[in-house]
Amino acid sequence: MKRILVTGGAGFLGSHLCETLLGQGNEVLCVDNFFTGSKRNVEHLMSNPAFELMRHDVMFPLYVEVDEIYNLACPASPVHYQYDPVQTTKTSVHGAINMLGLAKRVGAKILQASTSEVYGDPEVHPQPESYWGRVNPIGVRSCYDEGKRCAETLFFDYWRQHQIQIRVVRIFNTYGPRMHPDDGRVVSNFIVQALRGEPITIYGDGTQTRSFCYVDDLIEAMIRMMAKDCAGPINIGNPGEFTMLELAQRVLELTGSKSEIVFFPLPADDPRQRRPDISVAKQVLGWEPKIALDEGLIRTIRYFERVT
Ligand code: NAD
Ligand code: UDP
Ligand code: UDP
Repeated sequence: MKRILVTGGAGFLGSHLCETLLGQGNEVLCVDNFFTGSKRNVEHLMSNPAFELMRHDVMFPLYVEVDEIYNLACPASPVHYQYDPVQTTKTSVHGAINMLGLAKRVGAKILQASTSEVYGDPEVHPQPESYWGRVNPIGVRSCYDEGKRCAETLFFDYWRQHQIQIRVVRIFNTYGPRMHPDDGRVVSNFIVQALRGEPITIYGDGTQTRSFCYVDDLIEAMIRMMAKDCAGPINIGNPGEFTMLELAQRVLELTGSKSEIVFFPLPADDPRQRRPDISVAKQVLGWEPKIALDEGLIRTIRYFERVT
């Protein structure tokens, strides 16, 4: 039985990860400051004696004994990471330093939940890991993008300097049950709006693209990555690419909603296109996503029908 620390474990992805790791017979220590996550996301795990929940902010040192660390602590929705941008950079950077310091002291393997945002608004399409990206260093998204880029730098420097066993995955847009109804990201916004009969809010003209991965596929890839002797970085995502207009239409059709579509200005620095090149993940992890967009949307819609 391994002792595994999941930071940000009470968030959307973290709660699924804790659940799967417990299901595989591990002990899980979930650390979260509940900024965007909540106890509700993990309440079904509380009665399991192998699960422990700790309120803690990763900007501060943490002294525990573990075998593996999954570092997910960081708000992921643009609305939430821009709410207190200084805190966002500190979470990524100080959080990475503290978790790497912990990994160094106890000899733990450590995985960083990095992001496709390290590619910024990309001129290379789809994005392979070898692409260095096009990120605005002083814009409203920079606290997240540059914070995550600096965290990657720290991971690779701790690896080169201290031989820490690191794993870096670059996660592309992932969705599914347990996203917060007010999370602000596009899939949860559109589904909640459609179910409530409210207007579907498209930012810009809706021709920008994203590639959406269902949460179960992502969690499987993260766990496979931890088990491999490979630092990465490795892209994890679903290469199916859709415009926001197409996504709105899929959600309207699958919910049977009569909501109208309304257009709002495009937020600053919003990437025009995004699609992962997952050849490395296929080769190294023997992984590719199995759940197509419609199937994942149906599962997510069923969840939001229950909770909203
Ligand atoms: P989320 O906002 O639901 O989860 C983040 C969790 O981290 C929350 O529980 C939050 O309370 C916690 N947290 C934030 N700051 C913290 C701090 N200083 N100390 C302790 N806990 C803190 O978002 P998510 O979608 O579950 O994302 C999880 C991770 O995956 C994030 O690091 C995010 O950057 C990364 N990621 C997610 C996606 C995606 O599409 N879901 C894409 C790329 C990267
Ligand atoms: N750290 C931590 N838990 C530990 C060990 C270290 O939170 O179990 C923190 C520690 O507070 C330090 C950071 O991780 O600020 C980096 O640790 P490292 O040993 O790399 O650096 P140093 O302590 O030499 O600055
Ligand atoms: N978006 C939108 N309507 C919304 C929320 C988001 O059209 O209600 C757009 C947003 O401008 C972006 C895309 O959907 O182009 C994905 O946004 P999200 O916040 O989910 O993630 P990210 O921009 O970080 O990929």
